[in-house]
Amino acid sequence: MANPIYNPKSLKAEEFIHDGEIRETLAYAEANKRNVELIDSILDKARPQKTETGYVCAGLSHREASVLLACDIPEKIQEIYKIAEEIKLAFYGNRIVMFAPLYLSNYCVNGCVYCPYHLKNKQIPRKKLTQEEVRAEVIALQDMGHKRLAIEAGEDPKNNPIEYILECIKTIYSVHHKNGDIRRVNVNIAATTVENYRKLKEAGIGTYILFQETYHKESYEQLHPTGPKHDYAYHTEAMDRAMEGGIDDVGLGVLFGLELYKYEFAGLLMHAEHLEAVHGVGPHTISVPRLKRADDIDPDQFDNGIDDETFAKITACIRLAVPYTGIIISTRETEATRSKLLRLGVSQVSGGSRTSVGGYAGYSADERPHDTEQFDVSDQRSLDEVVRWLMENGHIPSFCTACYREGRTGDRFMSLCKSGQILNCCHPNALMTLSEYLEDYASPETKEIGYKMVEEELKRIPKEKVRAIAEDNIAAIKASTRRDFRF
Ligand code: SAM
Repeated sequence: MANPIYNPKSLKAEEFIHDGEIRETLAYAEANKRNVELIDSILDKARPQKTETGYVCAGLSHREASVLLACDIPEKIQEIYKIAEEIKLAFYGNRIVMFAPLYLSNYCVNGCVYCPYHLKNKQIPRKKLTQEEVRAEVIALQDMGHKRLAIEAGEDPKNNPIEYILECIKTIYSVHHKNGDIRRVNVNIAATTVENYRKLKEAGIGTYILFQETYHKESYEQLHPTGPKHDYAYHTEAMDRAMEGGIDDVGLGVLFGLELYKYEFAGLLMHAEHLEAVHGVGPHTISVPRLKRADDIDPDQFDNGIDDETFAKITACIRLAVPYTGIIISTRETEATRSKLLRLGVSQVSGGSRTSVGGYAGYSADERPHDTEQFDVSDQRSLDEVVRWLMENGHIPSFCTACYREGRTGDRFMSLCKSGQILNCCHPNALMTLSEYLEDYASPETKEIGYKMVEEELKRIPKEKVRAIAEDNIAAIKASTRRDFRF
């Protein structure tokens, strides 16, 4: 094949994730990492600008953001952190969206060398939930208070074909236990065909999430030596097929620790630029997972682990580069790391998570099965503890799923972000769904802290009429079994 040319609009993986462009970007970033004039101009560009109706943010190109990531001047790093927090507050307020993963099956035909579900691992028990078991898991998740799930499965066309995934989604949406329901199912399954993405869209999924693992083609091929996931182009072009299949909320991510983080960072942003250039809408979310210890996996065998400070810097630079994209952090990280990153732009966290197949039903909050687990969970607190901790630190835990259910996906979600209507829309939605949580699932201590927060936060809703409706709805939540109010 002739040398690929960098082209963000191309549909070919090696042209929109162009190795030469990434290398030039890294060299440019290294050469300019102490170029204060340039760094200041990039920081100025990244700052949120107030408009008549709200805020707008220019975002940064992969080259600009890479300069910030390379910069090692302590005051400038502090400024990056400050702007990251400003952007977070301007577009997402103090709300943090809550979710939990639901592992459906750990059958997998791939050979991913960092994942314990790889085909050659004969010591891990293989398990696939029956529909009865899916129902039991969903009831357990609803009883914790969850409304939003990310379903996870290995890739195995025989054991987990698309029909199985679709059946599970149908089961999940059909369970209404007490006042509970799952209102948004995000899907993290292997790259698939346009036809299958269309089926997922028809099944009513929220975001389609697929981690690239690494953007470095050669490493990618070595890390995925066997199975369908070995095909770098098929994996990297998956989001284009998903969008062709009608899914307009897609979630990107790399698994930090596999390759050099600066390379991954540039690749990730080039992928976001590509989606914007081709489909007119960037990624809905970016996840920042770090490699973890797991069954037969020792993260120390991989050379590219990153320390907490670098991890924080990466997250903050992502916040500056793609201000309208949500950032997700999972329970792979400790309470302390999550706490720090929440100030730097993270907008979604998981809570009370189990990464094993069938890890919720039948286990108490402090019991966790390890046999089919995908990786060690560092933050092992219950959802109630995570919710309370968030509120004690000034964040509003939100169980809202309104945007997707009102059709505000893709660029329509981005327009809401820019319109300045967040305080009249997302904010009351967060308070109403938090009230549902407090009423139906919270411990007395969490409930007390929560309602104090709700009362204070209601005052911040600018439109009187909206505030009055939100107050009425919260009163109805407290006094009756009426649920699922939304703007
Ligand atoms: N099988 C699907 C695929 O091929 O994309 C995705 C589901 S997998 C359950 C979800 C993600 O877990 C993977 O994309 C990978 O990034 C992450 N993962 C795998 N092994 C891990 C480990 N040891 N530590 C942390 N995350 C891991």
